[in-house]
Amino acid sequence: MDTEHNEQPNNTLYDVIIVGAGLVGACFASLLKSARGKNGQRLNIAVVEAGAPPKPVDLSSDSAVSESGFDPRVVALTRSSQDTLASIGAWESIEALRCCPYTDMHVWDGDGTGSIHFNSFDIGETDLGHIVENSVALHSVLQTLTNASNVEMIYGDGVEQLGGDQQQRSLILLSGRVLSAPLIVAADGSRSKIRELAAIAVRQWSYGHQAIVTTVQTERSHQFTAWQRFLSTGPLAFLPLHEATKGENASHFCSIVWSLNTDVAEQMMALSDDDFKQELGRAFEHRLGDIVAVDKRYSLPLWQRHAREYIQPGLALIGDAAHSIHPLAGQGVNLGFLDAKVLAEEVIRAHKSGLNLNDFSLLRRFQRRRKGHNLAVMAIMEGFKRLFGARNLTVRLLRNMGIKQVDRLPLIKHTIAREILSSGKS
Ligand SMILES: Cc1cc2nc3c(=O)[nH]c(=O)nc-3n(C[C@H](O)[C@H](O)[C@H](O)COP(=O)(O)OP(=O)(O)OC[C@H]3O[C@@H](n4cnc5c(N)ncnc54)[C@H](O)[C@@H]3O)c2cc1C
Repeated sequence: MDTEHNEQPNNTLYDVIIVGAGLVGACFASLLKSARGKNGQRLNIAVVEAGAPPKPVDLSSDSAVSESGFDPRVVALTRSSQDTLASIGAWESIEALRCCPYTDMHVWDGDGTGSIHFNSFDIGETDLGHIVENSVALHSVLQTLTNASNVEMIYGDGVEQLGGDQQQRSLILLSGRVLSAPLIVAADGSRSKIRELAAIAVRQWSYGHQAIVTTVQTERSHQFTAWQRFLSTGPLAFLPLHEATKGENASHFCSIVWSLNTDVAEQMMALSDDDFKQELGRAFEHRLGDIVAVDKRYSLPLWQRHAREYIQPGLALIGDAAHSIHPLAGQGVNLGFLDAKVLAEEVIRAHKSGLNLNDFSLLRRFQRRRKGHNLAVMAIMEGFKRLFGARNLTVRLLRNMGIKQVDRLPLIKHTIAREILSSGKS
């Protein structure tokens, strides 16, 4: 369908409107951009983003985003996400800019002596995943949309109202502009305005935790390993970063995610850099020696949210708009990319066969394919967090024995390692 205009002069009609140009919304737009219908026509897509267009990524030290030069927000991407990003042409750019493969994962227990170690070579793979800065990933995904004449990016305009009927959904933007489409896809993050306007119920609770995120420089190399220590106060992750221009220190930087009870997190945020380095080093048992330097710290409240329905006639939720999960899982955006991939497959199939995009069976299939998997991953991660957070002595004893057993059983370990790598390839 070509762009058409309704009788109302300011009502623009599209095939698909995506709300939110974060990693998941932008990836979804890119997955759809080249799809051809029966008569060779491409989908006409609008992407509405409340924020300003992100600044181009410049990794030179002169315009660094932080003292270390690294973005404080990173994601651990699985092979499945890598494949999706490669399919839209974004992975090449991520690799050219900056990312860090990790070959090992070391998880250990704060109170006991249990630990598990995963290695990619044990399962015949070169790595277990990659740590990618959010700005690098977003820049690379948005690059794939720059020459797509059928994708209109509308920046700096949020959604005010959701209306229309089952045939045609419409949005009124803050600017007063009206957009309509048979399908609106909400990728507007964990506090989704579209989800709220559509009155889709959410199951949510606060973890009572804040995540402190920052970049640190360590005395010893991170050895291309993702490190995670489970403390009774919450998990602490050291995720490896790599920047060749830093010479002998190239592998001495990690992005940390330290999840703590809110009151303790506030105390940690209030510490001087030197005191924070001491506390962090202690909490990490100095596995990589001293913490040599620390960037500016940020703290984010942690919530678990899950929409009871991902769909309504003419409407679908993807990414954090549908589910947000504790960062210990390192799964949030990976699940979001899977949502984007599956919904894109369903939309493309309908477009090719000339089916109207408001056909509800399309959306039902998407929900069926994604909801169960998302719930299963969220339940596993919740169980993991509760198990490791347990103060009860018997639970702790069983937990440590369990970890030791798993570490001694290569077959089970390999199965888990494969799951880490592919994370729910659908
Ligand atoms: C500390 C921390 C560590 C994490 N680590 C990992 C990890 O290692 N691996 C992993 O997979 N995930 C991780 N995550 C989760 C991951 O960051 C999120 O799952 C992911 O960013 C969600 O992407 P999204 O595109 O769905 O939403 P968002 O990134 O939130 O994007 C939503 C977009 O919608 C826009 N928007 C919002 N409202 C409106 C509106 N009304 N109108 C128009 N636009 C709007 C916003 O401006 C934004 O650009 C982590 C999260 C945290 C907090």
